Amino acid sequence: MDVTAFAPETYTGELVASTALTHDILQVTVQLDRPVRYVAGQYANLWVPKIDRRRSYSFAQPPLRDGRDRVNFFVRKVPGGLFTEALFDDALAGERFEIEAPQGQFHIRQGEGPMLCIAGGSGLAPLLSLLEDARKNRVNRPCTFLFGARTQADLYCVDEIKAIAAGWPNKFDFVPVLSEGHDDRDWDGARGMVTEHLPAAGGIDLTGAQGYMCGPPPMIDAGIHALVELGVPLAEIHYDKFTDESHGETA
Ligand SMILES: Cc1cc2nc3c(=O)[nH]c(=O)nc-3n(C[C@H](O)[C@H](O)[C@H](O)COP(=O)(O)OP(=O)(O)OC[C@H]3O[C@@H](n4cnc5c(N)ncnc54)[C@H](O)[C@@H]3O)c2cc1C
Repeated sequence: MDVTAFAPETYTGELVASTALTHDILQVTVQLDRPVRYVAGQYANLWVPKIDRRRSYSFAQPPLRDGRDRVNFFVRKVPGGLFTEALFDDALAGERFEIEAPQGQFHIRQGEGPMLCIAGGSGLAPLLSLLEDARKNRVNRPCTFLFGARTQADLYCVDEIKAIAAGWPNKFDFVPVLSEGHDDRDWDGARGMVTEHLPAAGGIDLTGAQGYMCGPPPMIDAGIHALVELGVPLAEIHYDKFTDESHGETA
Protein backbone atom coordinates (compact mmCIF):
# COMPACT_ATOMS: atom_id res chain seq x y z
CA MET A 1 0.00 0.00 0.00
CA ASP A 2 1.28 3.45 -0.91
CA VAL A 3 1.48 5.78 2.10
CA THR A 4 0.60 8.70 -0.12
CA ALA A 5 -2.78 6.99 -0.68
CA PHE A 6 -4.33 9.07 2.09
CA ALA A 7 -3.42 12.75 2.44
CA PRO A 8 -3.21 14.00 6.04
CA GLU A 9 -6.31 15.76 7.27
CA THR A 10 -7.16 17.51 10.53
CA TYR A 11 -9.62 15.78 12.85
CA THR A 12 -11.05 16.62 16.24
CA GLY A 13 -10.75 13.88 18.81
CA GLU A 14 -11.89 13.30 22.37
CA LEU A 15 -10.10 11.08 24.85
CA VAL A 16 -12.86 8.62 25.77
CA ALA A 17 -11.03 5.79 27.54
CA SER A 18 -7.68 4.73 28.87
CA THR A 19 -6.83 1.22 30.04
CA ALA A 20 -3.63 0.02 31.67
CA LEU A 21 -1.72 -2.49 29.54
CA THR A 22 1.23 -2.55 31.96
CA HIS A 23 2.27 -0.41 34.95
CA ASP A 24 3.60 2.26 32.56
CA ILE A 25 1.76 1.74 29.26
CA LEU A 26 -1.84 2.86 28.69
CA GLN A 27 -4.11 2.01 25.80
CA VAL A 28 -5.70 5.34 24.97
CA THR A 29 -8.92 5.45 22.95
CA VAL A 30 -9.78 8.60 21.02
CA GLN A 31 -13.18 9.21 19.42
CA LEU A 32 -12.76 11.19 16.18
CA ASP A 33 -15.28 13.49 14.53
CA ARG A 34 -15.15 11.25 11.41
CA PRO A 35 -13.32 8.11 10.25
CA VAL A 36 -9.60 8.37 9.52
CA ARG A 37 -7.98 6.29 6.79
CA TYR A 38 -4.35 5.26 7.14
CA VAL A 39 -1.89 2.58 6.14
CA ALA A 40 -0.89 0.01 8.80
CA GLY A 41 2.19 1.29 10.62
CA GLN A 42 1.44 5.00 10.28
CA TYR A 43 0.95 7.44 13.16
CA ALA A 44 -1.01 10.56 14.13
CA ASN A 45 0.10 13.93 15.44
CA LEU A 46 -1.99 15.04 18.40
CA TRP A 47 -2.14 18.71 19.24
CA VAL A 48 -2.83 18.87 22.97
CA PRO A 49 -4.16 22.34 23.96
CA LYS A 50 -3.70 21.73 27.69
CA ILE A 51 0.08 21.43 27.29
CA ASP A 52 0.28 23.55 24.13
CA ARG A 53 2.38 20.88 22.37
CA ARG A 54 2.16 18.37 19.52
CA ARG A 55 2.91 14.69 20.22
CA SER A 56 3.06 11.71 17.86
CA TYR A 57 1.42 8.32 18.52
CA SER A 58 1.20 5.29 16.25
CA PHE A 59 -2.14 3.68 15.43
CA ALA A 60 -2.28 0.37 17.31
CA GLN A 61 -5.05 -1.24 15.22
CA PRO A 62 -5.05 -2.35 11.60
CA PRO A 63 -6.84 0.12 9.34
CA LEU A 64 -10.39 -0.44 8.13
CA ARG A 65 -11.25 0.10 4.46
CA ASP A 66 -13.74 2.85 5.21
CA GLY A 67 -11.64 4.32 8.02
CA ARG A 68 -11.84 4.19 11.82
CA ASP A 69 -13.59 6.81 13.91
CA ARG A 70 -12.42 5.30 17.22
CA VAL A 71 -8.68 4.77 17.38
CA ASN A 72 -6.33 3.24 19.93
CA PHE A 73 -2.83 4.33 20.81
CA PHE A 74 -0.36 2.72 23.24
CA VAL A 75 1.30 5.42 25.32
CA ARG A 76 4.26 4.80 27.61
CA LYS A 77 4.78 7.04 30.61
CA VAL A 78 7.93 9.13 30.25
CA PRO A 79 9.16 10.46 33.61
CA GLY A 80 9.01 14.25 33.49
CA GLY A 81 7.10 14.13 30.18
CA LEU A 82 4.55 16.89 29.73
CA PHE A 83 1.87 14.89 27.92
CA THR A 84 2.34 11.44 29.41
CA GLU A 85 2.55 12.61 33.04
CA ALA A 86 -0.74 14.53 32.54
CA LEU A 87 -2.31 11.48 30.87
CA PHE A 88 -1.28 9.11 33.68
CA ASP A 89 -2.49 11.61 36.30
CA ASP A 90 -5.91 11.40 34.59
CA ALA A 91 -5.73 15.13 33.92
CA LEU A 92 -6.74 14.71 30.25
CA ALA A 93 -10.00 12.70 30.58
CA GLY A 94 -12.55 14.11 28.15
CA GLU A 95 -9.91 16.42 26.69
CA ARG A 96 -10.26 17.42 23.04
CA PHE A 97 -7.29 17.09 20.71
CA GLU A 98 -6.63 18.27 17.21
CA ILE A 99 -5.30 15.33 15.23
CA GLU A 100 -3.37 15.42 11.98
CA ALA A 101 -3.28 12.04 10.30
CA PRO A 102 -2.07 9.90 8.71
CA GLN A 103 1.66 10.53 9.06
CA GLY A 104 4.88 8.63 8.40
CA GLN A 105 6.61 6.21 6.11
CA PHE A 106 6.56 3.10 8.30
CA HIS A 107 4.57 0.45 6.43
CA ILE A 108 5.05 -2.97 4.87
CA ARG A 109 7.03 -3.06 1.62
CA GLN A 110 6.59 -5.38 -1.34
CA GLY A 111 8.75 -8.48 -1.09
CA GLU A 112 8.85 -12.21 -0.69
CA GLY A 113 11.76 -12.60 1.76
CA PRO A 114 11.45 -12.92 5.53
CA MET A 115 10.26 -10.07 7.73
CA LEU A 116 12.49 -9.40 10.74
CA CYS A 117 10.46 -7.31 13.19
CA ILE A 118 11.53 -5.76 16.49
CA ALA A 119 9.36 -3.83 18.94
CA GLY A 120 10.37 -2.23 22.21
CA GLY A 121 7.85 -0.97 24.80
CA SER A 122 5.04 1.05 23.22
CA GLY A 123 6.74 0.41 19.85
CA LEU A 124 4.49 -2.62 19.74
CA ALA A 125 1.58 -0.43 18.54
CA PRO A 126 2.59 0.08 14.88
CA LEU A 127 3.92 -3.47 14.59
CA LEU A 128 0.65 -4.96 15.88
CA SER A 129 -1.19 -2.83 13.33
CA LEU A 130 1.19 -3.83 10.52
CA LEU A 131 1.30 -7.56 11.36
CA GLU A 132 -2.45 -7.90 11.96
CA ASP A 133 -3.10 -6.15 8.64
CA ALA A 134 -0.55 -8.41 6.90
CA ARG A 135 -2.19 -11.48 8.43
CA LYS A 136 -5.61 -10.33 7.20
CA ASN A 137 -4.14 -9.77 3.74
CA ARG A 138 -2.57 -13.27 3.76
CA VAL A 139 0.98 -11.95 3.34
CA ASN A 140 2.81 -15.23 2.81
CA ARG A 141 6.33 -14.59 4.12
CA PRO A 142 8.31 -15.99 7.05
CA CYS A 143 8.28 -13.62 10.02
CA THR A 144 10.46 -13.37 13.11
CA PHE A 145 9.05 -11.03 15.73
CA LEU A 146 11.23 -9.98 18.67
CA PHE A 147 9.47 -8.09 21.45
CA GLY A 148 11.74 -6.42 23.99
CA ALA A 149 10.60 -5.65 27.52
CA ARG A 150 12.33 -5.12 30.82
CA THR A 151 10.52 -7.76 32.90
CA GLN A 152 7.60 -10.15 32.45
CA ALA A 153 5.36 -7.42 33.90
CA ASP A 154 6.28 -5.23 30.91
CA LEU A 155 5.08 -7.75 28.32
CA TYR A 156 1.57 -7.09 27.03
CA CYS A 157 -0.75 -8.04 24.15
CA VAL A 158 0.96 -11.42 24.11
CA ASP A 159 -2.33 -13.19 23.34
CA GLU A 160 -2.92 -10.83 20.39
CA ILE A 161 0.57 -11.58 19.06
CA LYS A 162 0.00 -15.32 19.48
CA ALA A 163 -3.28 -15.01 17.58
CA ILE A 164 -1.46 -13.30 14.70
CA ALA A 165 1.17 -16.06 14.79
CA ALA A 166 -1.54 -18.76 14.74
CA GLY A 167 -3.25 -17.21 11.70
CA TRP A 168 -0.04 -16.34 9.81
CA PRO A 169 0.11 -18.25 6.52
CA ASN A 170 3.88 -18.94 6.80
CA LYS A 171 6.43 -19.62 9.57
CA PHE A 172 6.07 -17.08 12.42
CA ASP A 173 8.54 -17.03 15.32
CA PHE A 174 7.56 -14.87 18.27
CA VAL A 175 10.46 -14.24 20.67
CA PRO A 176 9.79 -12.11 23.77
CA VAL A 177 13.08 -10.94 25.29
CA LEU A 178 13.57 -9.60 28.83
CA SER A 179 16.38 -7.13 29.46
CA GLU A 180 16.08 -6.82 33.25
CA GLY A 181 14.14 -9.83 34.44
CA HIS A 182 16.71 -10.93 37.03
CA ASP A 183 13.92 -11.67 39.52
CA ASP A 184 11.76 -13.45 36.94
CA ARG A 185 12.96 -16.86 38.06
CA ASP A 186 10.07 -18.61 36.34
CA TRP A 187 11.09 -17.10 32.97
CA ASP A 188 12.75 -19.64 30.72
CA GLY A 189 12.60 -17.44 27.60
CA ALA A 190 15.20 -15.19 26.00
CA ARG A 191 17.10 -12.60 28.04
CA GLY A 192 19.35 -9.67 27.17
CA MET A 193 19.00 -6.86 24.67
CA VAL A 194 16.27 -7.62 22.18
CA THR A 195 18.50 -6.88 19.19
CA GLU A 196 21.04 -9.51 20.33
CA HIS A 197 18.44 -12.14 19.51
CA LEU A 198 18.17 -11.36 15.82
CA PRO A 199 20.40 -14.32 14.99
CA ALA A 200 17.37 -16.33 16.19
CA ALA A 201 16.31 -15.61 12.61
CA GLY A 202 19.49 -17.36 11.47
CA GLY A 203 17.64 -20.62 10.89
CA ILE A 204 15.89 -19.14 7.89
CA ASP A 205 17.08 -18.11 4.45
CA LEU A 206 17.58 -14.33 4.69
CA THR A 207 17.45 -13.72 0.94
CA GLY A 208 15.22 -10.69 0.38
CA ALA A 209 14.88 -10.05 4.13
CA GLN A 210 13.41 -6.76 5.34
CA GLY A 211 13.65 -5.22 8.80
CA TYR A 212 10.71 -3.51 10.56
CA MET A 213 11.33 -1.83 13.92
CA CYS A 214 9.65 0.63 16.28
CA GLY A 215 10.65 1.83 19.72
CA PRO A 216 13.24 3.84 21.59
CA PRO A 217 16.08 5.38 19.53
CA PRO A 218 18.92 3.31 21.11
CA MET A 219 17.03 0.08 20.30
CA ILE A 220 16.53 1.19 16.69
CA ASP A 221 20.22 2.08 16.31
CA ALA A 222 21.27 -1.31 17.74
CA GLY A 223 18.70 -3.02 15.50
CA ILE A 224 20.00 -1.34 12.35
CA HIS A 225 23.52 -2.46 13.27
CA ALA A 226 22.40 -6.05 13.94
CA LEU A 227 20.36 -6.27 10.72
CA VAL A 228 23.22 -4.91 8.61
CA GLU A 229 25.53 -7.50 10.25
CA LEU A 230 23.08 -10.18 9.13
CA GLY A 231 23.39 -8.84 5.58
CA VAL A 232 20.10 -6.90 5.33
CA PRO A 233 20.69 -3.83 3.10
CA LEU A 234 20.05 -0.45 4.78
CA ALA A 235 17.41 0.34 2.15
CA GLU A 236 15.44 -2.69 3.36
CA ILE A 237 15.42 -1.59 7.02
CA HIS A 238 12.30 0.39 7.96
CA TYR A 239 11.60 1.97 11.33
CA ASP A 240 10.02 4.70 13.41
CA LYS A 241 12.20 6.06 16.19
CA PHE A 242 10.03 7.17 19.11
CA THR A 243 11.97 10.37 19.76
CA ASP A 244 10.82 12.94 22.33
CA GLU A 245 11.85 16.45 23.33
CA SER A 246 14.93 15.14 25.15
CA HIS A 247 16.27 14.19 21.70
CA GLY A 248 15.91 17.77 20.52
CA GLU A 249 13.55 16.56 17.81
CA THR A 250 10.11 15.05 17.45
CA ALA A 251 8.31 13.99 14.32
C1 LIG B 1 6.97 8.96 14.80
C2 LIG B 1 6.77 8.83 16.30
C3 LIG B 1 5.82 7.94 16.79
C4 LIG B 1 5.64 7.79 18.15
N1 LIG B 1 4.74 6.88 18.60
C5 LIG B 1 4.62 6.67 19.93
C6 LIG B 1 3.72 5.67 20.44
O1 LIG B 1 3.00 4.99 19.68
N2 LIG B 1 3.69 5.49 21.78
C7 LIG B 1 4.47 6.22 22.65
O2 LIG B 1 4.39 5.98 23.88
N3 LIG B 1 5.30 7.20 22.20
C8 LIG B 1 5.38 7.45 20.88
N4 LIG B 1 6.21 8.44 20.44
C9 LIG B 1 6.82 9.37 21.42
C10 LIG B 1 5.78 10.46 21.79
O3 LIG B 1 5.50 11.26 20.63
C11 LIG B 1 6.26 11.43 22.89
O4 LIG B 1 7.49 12.00 22.53
C12 LIG B 1 6.38 10.76 24.26
O5 LIG B 1 5.12 10.19 24.62
C13 LIG B 1 6.83 11.73 25.35
O6 LIG B 1 5.93 12.82 25.41
P1 LIG B 1 5.83 13.70 26.73
O7 LIG B 1 5.14 14.97 26.40
O8 LIG B 1 5.29 12.90 27.87
O9 LIG B 1 7.37 13.96 27.08
P2 LIG B 1 8.25 15.29 26.80
O10 LIG B 1 7.65 16.48 27.43
O11 LIG B 1 8.58 15.35 25.35
O12 LIG B 1 9.55 14.91 27.62
C14 LIG B 1 10.31 13.72 27.32
C15 LIG B 1 11.54 13.66 28.21
O13 LIG B 1 12.42 14.68 27.80
C16 LIG B 1 12.72 15.54 28.86
N5 LIG B 1 12.82 16.86 28.20
C17 LIG B 1 11.81 17.66 27.79
N6 LIG B 1 12.30 18.76 27.16
C18 LIG B 1 13.65 18.62 27.17
C19 LIG B 1 14.72 19.39 26.69
N7 LIG B 1 14.50 20.56 26.06
N8 LIG B 1 15.99 18.94 26.86
C20 LIG B 1 16.23 17.79 27.50
N9 LIG B 1 15.26 17.00 28.00
C21 LIG B 1 14.00 17.42 27.84
C22 LIG B 1 11.57 15.38 29.85
O14 LIG B 1 11.95 15.67 31.17
C23 LIG B 1 11.25 13.91 29.68
O15 LIG B 1 12.10 13.09 30.45
C24 LIG B 1 6.41 8.59 19.06
C25 LIG B 1 7.34 9.51 18.56
C26 LIG B 1 7.51 9.63 17.21
C27 LIG B 1 8.54 10.63 16.71
